[in-house]
Amino acid sequence: MKTPAETAPNRPTAATGDGIPFRVAVVGAGPSGCYTAQALLKGQPDIEITVLDALPTPFGLVRYGIAADHQGAKAVSRQFERVFSQPGVDFVGNVSVGTDVGLESLRENFHAVVLATGLGADRRLDIERDPDARVVGAGDLVRLLNSDPDARLRHRRDGLDDLGAEVVILGTGNVAVDVARLLSKSDLDLIASDIDDDALRAVAPNPVRTIHILGRCPSHRAKWDASMVKELAHVVGVRVTVDGTPLLDGTAVSPRTTVNVRFEQVPAAIRRHDGRIRVTTHRAGDSGQVDHVDADTVITALGFESPAAHLTHSGGLDAPHLFRVGGPATGRLGNLAENRRLATDAARDVLAFLRGQEPRHRAGLDGLRDRLPASAVDFEAWRRIDDAEIRRARPDRCRTKFTTREELLAAAAGSAAPPSIPLATTGPSTTQEK
Ligand SMILES: Cc1cc2nc3c(=O)[nH]c(=O)nc-3n(C[C@H](O)[C@H](O)[C@H](O)COP(=O)(O)OP(=O)(O)OC[C@H]3O[C@@H](n4cnc5c(N)ncnc54)[C@H](O)[C@@H]3O)c2cc1C
Repeated sequence: MKTPAETAPNRPTAATGDGIPFRVAVVGAGPSGCYTAQALLKGQPDIEITVLDALPTPFGLVRYGIAADHQGAKAVSRQFERVFSQPGVDFVGNVSVGTDVGLESLRENFHAVVLATGLGADRRLDIERDPDARVVGAGDLVRLLNSDPDARLRHRRDGLDDLGAEVVILGTGNVAVDVARLLSKSDLDLIASDIDDDALRAVAPNPVRTIHILGRCPSHRAKWDASMVKELAHVVGVRVTVDGTPLLDGTAVSPRTTVNVRFEQVPAAIRRHDGRIRVTTHRAGDSGQVDHVDADTVITALGFESPAAHLTHSGGLDAPHLFRVGGPATGRLGNLAENRRLATDAARDVLAFLRGQEPRHRAGLDGLRDRLPASAVDFEAWRRIDDAEIRRARPDRCRTKFTTREELLAAAAGSAAPPSIPLATTGPSTTQEK
């Protein structure tokens, strides 16, 4: 059966008075925004789409979330680049909607506005917690290791401190496994990645020796993909045990890193104890059975939520021509495949809505231009950043990203790309243990 969007007759292309039927603004150039733009174009090839992002770079967590050693997954950005190469699709980076440009301006200038702003904050852990105990979010940590200029850890007093030899990761999703893998890999394992070497050396000068992954649920309900855990167990020098049983026989007899996974451990408190951090847990369903794990740092990998001061928390979001996709619609970050499906559905709803409206003029990006900051970045400028990062790649890395907005904007403007300074010394993390 055909959907309303497919059956609705296309209105004459007079809605804007200049041959463009509809002008749509997409807020957020991550996968949800890019897949939405792709699906809108497919449904209405002569549409005009402006994709805005607060960062000077497109692709959201493809660039700043997906692990630096998973270049295969990151390669989805090539598909998105093709969307931005289409006539009628514009990227406007370094423009935060709600701060640099009001949502109201988008509503005035576009026939529809799609919020694809993701979920930018680690979900908080609501248990008794000593404020001095070092607890970092997994999302914050991967953003740091992916060179996000806004990574909270980059700007936090203890953000670049050594995580220590023993860490606890709370949560049993794929992000927990990503963090465990990145913290246990040697330099050789990271060849051809685009990891931020300086950040990695700061937080993990050596691969972490012991990682405890604690999950509340029973093992069969863990959210991670089995293939991710297998990949971790196959890293040379890493030994993974699950509730005390080794995952693979005969691997890494004297391992560089031991990863102990324990299920049905409900965290109850995080306190300072003898200069370290003590995580107190009780067994799921039995609050009397208390256990403790001592470590140097606790990493929470419990999912994501929108930051407290975020566009989606502001008022006036109920206008009929405002749509949501990805995290703002579902409350879940999701993966690429899920977000692609959601974006296809959202694009269908947007087109059905637009085709049901009386034609009216909307100026689109032209109506916004005098409100955009001078430092806004277009797609050509992003290509200059991309090119400069690839050219300055350190040996054995596929790119070396810029880590500040100033550097990104200088590269966007075509100024001589600041060189990446080769690492002068190779620390212990460069030796691969057998
Ligand atoms: C560590 C990690 C590893 C992952 N690995 C994988 C993997 O291997 N495979 C997989 O399928 N998925 C993976 N994912 C999930 C994947 O990254 C998400 O599904 C996807 O990025 C969500 O896309 P999104 O566009 O909804 O959100 P995001 O990618 O977060 O993009 C949202 C964009 O909106 C912008 N934005 C926010 N607010 C504003 C504003 N006010 N104005 C303008 N712009 C704004 C942000 O700057 C950002 O660019 C991983 C996620 C993480 C955290």
